[in-house]
Amino acid sequence: MSEPVKCPVCGKKAKTGSAIDCARHMFGVGDKPHRAWVEAQGLSFIDLLIEQATTPGNQSYVTLAEFIEKAQDRPAETKN
Ligand SMILES: [Zn+2]
Repeated sequence: MSEPVKCPVCGKKAKTGSAIDCARHMFGVGDKPHRAWVEAQGLSFIDLLIEQATTPGNQSYVTLAEFIEKAQDRPAETKN
């Protein structure tokens, strides 16, 4: 069993503890800090949102989940 995944922005634990669920949370909240974190990973929040809305499956969630999983290993860093 692995540790439940926490949102790298607000620290909220995903319901199922999966990174996919955390990604869904980030899209669901979609406020400025969450968008900024996604953009800081070199992704486009809007593009991912559009892709998720227009293509079948969960590809956008999977993409974001990979970054969320990587972020679990390191403490949050703020870059300005
Ligand atoms: Zn969050």
